[in-house]
Amino acid sequence: MNKETKDPYDVLVVGGGIAGEEASLNLANMGYKVLMVEKDYSIGGKMILLSKVFPTLDCAACITTPKVSEVARHPNITVYTYSEVKEIRKQGEKNFFIRVVKKPRYVIENLCTGCEECEHVCPVVVKDQYQYDLVGRKAVFIPFSIANPRIAAIDLENCVLCGLCEKVCPADAIDFTQQPVEETWQVKTVILATGFKLFDPLKIPRYGYGKYPNVITSMQMERELAPTRPYNNVLRPGDGKMPDNVAYVLCTGSRDATVGNPICSQVCCMYSIKQAQLIMGALPMADVTIYYLHIRAFGKGFCEFYQQAKGMGVEFVKGKIGRIKEKKNGNLILRYEDIESGKVKEAEHDLVILSVGVLANDEIKAAFNGQNLALDDFRFIRQKDELSNPALTNIEGVFVAGAASGPMDIPDSIMSAGAASSEAASYITQKNE
Ligand SMILES: Cc1cc2nc3c(=O)[nH]c(=O)nc-3n(C[C@H](O)[C@H](O)[C@H](O)COP(=O)(O)OP(=O)(O)OC[C@H]3O[C@@H](n4cnc5c(N)ncnc54)[C@H](O)[C@@H]3O)c2cc1C
Ligand code: SF4
Ligand code: SF4
Repeated sequence: MNKETKDPYDVLVVGGGIAGEEASLNLANMGYKVLMVEKDYSIGGKMILLSKVFPTLDCAACITTPKVSEVARHPNITVYTYSEVKEIRKQGEKNFFIRVVKKPRYVIENLCTGCEECEHVCPVVVKDQYQYDLVGRKAVFIPFSIANPRIAAIDLENCVLCGLCEKVCPADAIDFTQQPVEETWQVKTVILATGFKLFDPLKIPRYGYGKYPNVITSMQMERELAPTRPYNNVLRPGDGKMPDNVAYVLCTGSRDATVGNPICSQVCCMYSIKQAQLIMGALPMADVTIYYLHIRAFGKGFCEFYQQAKGMGVEFVKGKIGRIKEKKNGNLILRYEDIESGKVKEAEHDLVILSVGVLANDEIKAAFNGQNLALDDFRFIRQKDELSNPALTNIEGVFVAGAASGPMDIPDSIMSAGAASSEAASYITQKNE
């Protein structure tokens, strides 16, 4: 059902990560009415799930949750979570028709208090996507402790329809009859802040991800190091042992044409150096080795951060990993080419972290009806004028923010969102004159 006011929004922002939040807040503070559509159950994007941020080691959640709350409470911003933008059609200048589908959570949003009673009784346990499969969650679940909105949802694919959650819910918030709700609006401008996808390391079988439990991804290690972590310490998933000899494999799925991604992901060197320092803080007796091809420490304070890691004792080995094999005790043997000496060597580690790359998320392209949203060679949203007007796409009135246009760290995503929001405001204003 449409709201009572017809077409009350000036701007559609697609994606509720740090870039979408920043762009929405900028426009809302200028007085524009923003509709933010996020496909996930919570806003916050990848950043809300990170541990700390390079190069300052500030807590990621502490920086992002105030912005997330501001977005959720802002009188000029309406947030639709667990929703999809099905159609964006330009009908003229400053005139886009949009079609959005709110998917059913099977929980009535304004009744749920987030009390978790339903989670306690639900008999189904499946992998928790927000802890990157390190632990389980129930079929009815609150996505994560700092989710916004902090309300439950039922994953009907895994639900056995036992009805226990419905019986126990003190707010009568469970509603299995919910159906998708389609809404249509006219907006004046659109900002695409749909972020990125992570490289799937199953595509490199010789690294043993998915086969050896002590080979994990960098996003899993982010969760192990975050304040809202799945375990109370850094543990290896295979046997719960505290690791004491950790390896990072940089460029997993980046700068590698054989897996279809020849470009640099820009953030993996720095987030690995960050994690190495955090592991040394959490496990002071642990050794950490980073296997790299080149270290890309190009931003403000990044080189110093790299030197700081070296000073703390992180070992850097310029080497290309050929394959990883598991020993009976769960330790891993890394066979690699030592680039400095040109020799093939082997090293044993008890936990291996694959520093997975950043891939394009091109799914919003399918929503464009009547006009073709241009993508670049790597399927990121093409910036029409990358050097002098980086927020412009090929469709006038549609702007891009954050990692949707290419790999980018958080400060750059925020700056890019600033550019997109000012371009969007200027587009609306110019056409008003
Ligand atoms: C392991 C790891 C560690 C990192 N550590 C750091 C760090 O320490 N410091 C740093 O500066 N950077 C770090 N980064 C990079 C950081 O995650 C990105 O810079 C940042 O997340 C980019 O924000 P974004 O909003 O553009 O994209 P995202 O965070 O990807 O957010 C995009 C949002 O859009 C939503 N979305 C996607 N498609 C749609 C759609 N079709 N409809 C509706 N919603 C949609 C997504 O669900 C998501 O909420 C790290 C990255 C990784 C992988
Ligand atoms: S659905 Fe009910 S039981 Fe579950 S968190 Fe919400 S209010 Fe609590
Ligand atoms: S009805 Fe589904 S979600 Fe609710 S308790 Fe049973 S299995 Fe869990």
